Amino acid sequence: VSWFATYAWLPDGLARDVLITAAGDRFTSVTAGSEPGDATRLPGVVLPGFANGHSHAFHRALRGRTQGGRGSFWSWRYAMYAVAAQLTPDSYLTLATAVYAEMAAAGMTSVGEFHYLHHGPDGTPYDDPNAMAEALREAARLAGLRVTLLDTCYLHGGLSADGYQPLAGPQVRFGDAGVEGWAARVEQLADSSGFAVGAAAHSTRALTPGELRAVAAFAAERPLHVHLSEQPGENAAMSQAHGQTPTEVLAGAGFWRETATAVHATHLTTADIGILAAARATACFCPTTERDLADGIGPARALADAGVTVSLGSDQQAVTDMFEEARGLEMHERLISNERGRFTTSQLMAATTEHASIGWPDAGRIEPGARADLVAVRLDSLRTAGAEPSQVLYAATAADIATVIIDGSVVVTDGVHRLGDVGEMLAAAITPLWPTC
Ligand SMILES: [Zn+2]
Repeated sequence: VSWFATYAWLPDGLARDVLITAAGDRFTSVTAGSEPGDATRLPGVVLPGFANGHSHAFHRALRGRTQGGRGSFWSWRYAMYAVAAQLTPDSYLTLATAVYAEMAAAGMTSVGEFHYLHHGPDGTPYDDPNAMAEALREAARLAGLRVTLLDTCYLHGGLSADGYQPLAGPQVRFGDAGVEGWAARVEQLADSSGFAVGAAAHSTRALTPGELRAVAAFAAERPLHVHLSEQPGENAAMSQAHGQTPTEVLAGAGFWRETATAVHATHLTTADIGILAAARATACFCPTTERDLADGIGPARALADAGVTVSLGSDQQAVTDMFEEARGLEMHERLISNERGRFTTSQLMAATTEHASIGWPDAGRIEPGARADLVAVRLDSLRTAGAEPSQVLYAATAADIATVIIDGSVVVTDGVHRLGDVGEMLAAAITPLWPTC
């Protein structure tokens, strides 16, 4: 198979007249300054596949339903629980297929699914205790993108002055019978083509230090993720209970390592940044979520300067657009620093294509041997017309993506996913979850 791009983003930056060949799911050659020959011409500027480092697929049902009016992260969480309470393996397959198809159409070729919707609504396991995870596996296969299931251990409903609280109400389906029960269930999940099993601890609010240690030990070499210091309340609870920051509590549990990712990393101390850097960990920023939930702006530049890898995620799916996440990373820095160009275009592209932290280190670069993922972005849309191809990241939206190729397969053509009308699929999956009014 061969494709020809007038402009393509290669490891050294933007190149002209690039002939790209692939065999199966891998690139075999990438040659700039070529003639198109009989290769398939891709429109606009061709970028590597995007990595969505942090997703909760079912949160897509909350978009445009929870954002009006006041409220906080905590009131949003109640609405999220109400949606979670209704989902079954069948309805989750329908919803997640549409959500992953939307992500593929937005150029995302891998996604890290932070999965905690494990059991029936009253906490009783399904006949297959991994029925919800299997729904996600099937959804990924249908939608045509790679999913890393970051199977999440979630054992407590929070930490108050009385200690760690039991899961209650809608939260009971997130739990397992201790870390042992969680690990036994995760061990029954096998990797398959385009589907990898990783691990996650929900947060320092949801697991005791001893439980965090057990999760980290079980994870071994797998990708290991955790929500970290998203809200000041989490820091206050850890300070009161343990006299430490959440980052320090996790450090004491042996959590930090090169395969670990801190999601959000919003309210960090200088010492916390040093801990993450020493471990060579990744920080996954979710700018459109963090601003929607009024979390705050995390120290992205300081983390990167210290040597922490920065990735990006769509998290609660208020927006499914990696251009918007990349711009959010840079623009939030501009607002708090009064400086432009806090991240270079190459650094923003690296964050947008950071597949290693979700277990696909061979993706995200257009070079021989890498996974054959391509995202062609139109340069003639209302948004991108007139833009320099090297700066398309600052102009484009997901709606400007014409072609998406994942592992050598064409998944999106002329902006249309191979499953058809994804908007219709989303509406059909989401509308029944909300009472009519
Ligand atoms: Zn999250």
